[in-house]
Amino acid sequence: MESTYESTRRRQRCHGAWCKQLTYPEDLPQISVVFIFVNEALSVILRSVHSVVNHTPAHLLKEIILVDDNSDSVELKFNLDQYVNKRYPGLVKIVRNSKREGLIRARIHGWNAATAPVVGFFDAHVEFNTGWAEPILTRMKEDHTRIILPAIDNIKYNTFEVQQYANAAHGYNWGLWCMYIIPPQEWLDKGDETAPIRTPAMIGCSFVVDREYFGDIGLLDPGMEVYGGENIELGMRVWQCGGSMEVLPCARVAHIERTKKPYNNDIDYYAKRNALRAAEVWMDEYKSHVYMAWNIPMNNPGVDFGDVSERLALRKRLQCRSFRWYLEHVYPEMRIYNNTITYGEVRNSKASGYCLDQGSEDDDKAILYPCHGMSSQLARYSTEGLLQLGPLGSTTFLPDTKCLIDDGRGRTPSLKKCDAVSRISQRLWDFTQNGPIISRDTGRCLEVEMSKDANFGLRLVVQRCSGQKWMIRNWIKHPRH
Ligand code: UDP
Ligand code: MN
Repeated sequence: MESTYESTRRRQRCHGAWCKQLTYPEDLPQISVVFIFVNEALSVILRSVHSVVNHTPAHLLKEIILVDDNSDSVELKFNLDQYVNKRYPGLVKIVRNSKREGLIRARIHGWNAATAPVVGFFDAHVEFNTGWAEPILTRMKEDHTRIILPAIDNIKYNTFEVQQYANAAHGYNWGLWCMYIIPPQEWLDKGDETAPIRTPAMIGCSFVVDREYFGDIGLLDPGMEVYGGENIELGMRVWQCGGSMEVLPCARVAHIERTKKPYNNDIDYYAKRNALRAAEVWMDEYKSHVYMAWNIPMNNPGVDFGDVSERLALRKRLQCRSFRWYLEHVYPEMRIYNNTITYGEVRNSKASGYCLDQGSEDDDKAILYPCHGMSSQLARYSTEGLLQLGPLGSTTFLPDTKCLIDDGRGRTPSLKKCDAVSRISQRLWDFTQNGPIISRDTGRCLEVEMSKDANFGLRLVVQRCSGQKWMIRNWIKHPRH
């Protein structure tokens, strides 16, 4: 994260002292703790189990549920059973999936086995800090429609050293990948390091719910596969359907951020597929943003996201609010691109197989490059006439996508921050599908020039229009209301 994040970190170093001053009621609800795992080291699972036993008051910890998502390794079968039953008789239930279900349904299986009024879901590579449970159960007791996230710290995967993270909310980009974001301004202004932080979604490795409420609002989407998207979908759903989600800075859990996953799936593909499910069910007219972010067409996206009819019926049954309401009230930091007309790869009839590309991020030059459909070749043409090139922007904490600019000097168009122009018209272009791209400032056209000394023999120029034609791949399809 960028600069303001640093100042947040400094201010929060002493949150521990603040938390110690809080007191909690005696009669708190009990919790079932669910760990899911696949091919995790036995020692790491046991570390998670010991840590939750050691740092949760015994009368509050009803049970621990270990969900084995069909691991391959033998030590996770007999050895694990034997160890936990001997060490913690009666406390630990083990659920074994007979086939690999993915993390979403693995958590649902854990929920099915849980009996306490509150259920916490965790990756099986975590450590719990002292006093993690009491603040959560207190907030839960006050209002069971809260989904509560411990603040996450990092366990370095190579040394197991715990690295404290600054307090953050959990946001995401339009591809529905999660990321830490700066807490809402109201929270920062309050200056209370113990106060809950409103969050639009969750990172996902650790969250606590009321068992019955979680069932009522539809658990996690069981149509999601393997990994990803479920954490964002739950954030959208709980807020849109009348509940809330918050991070509690005094409840801290550390999680190993690993660089390699012990399951061999193409995580990106499943994250994309699951993101499309969330988009189709919850995001109304904003769902186009997810297709844009992944640079795929809205018609025939080339991804089978399965049947979402039951999730749409759930949304109707729960009478949930619109995505627009959610953006305005819960995720106002998100940049919105509703003025997009066309997006995707941009091709010129003179250079078949080549696409407009943002090129190196360090310079301000757009280039032509063999088409590959990734986000460096995502263009967006808007109703105002902006032509933006590169990954779709997300929150206002991060830079927006750059604009193609004809500043009238020389023949090379530049790619710059959209407001880095002396006249607004320098960033505006006229374009209709299969027609020229014309600068509104100079009247020159964006064209391709054959040149021996340019990469691939192709140079992008602005020049007197010679009739070259461009195509931008995808149109926005607006959902019917
Ligand atoms: N997981 C699972 N089944 C799968 C994939 C993942 O049960 O098919 C579990 C995994 O063991 C872990 C959790 O889901 O407890 C989240 O996965 P991971 O830790 O790899 O994701 P990260 O925290 O790195 O985002
Ligand atoms: Mn994890």
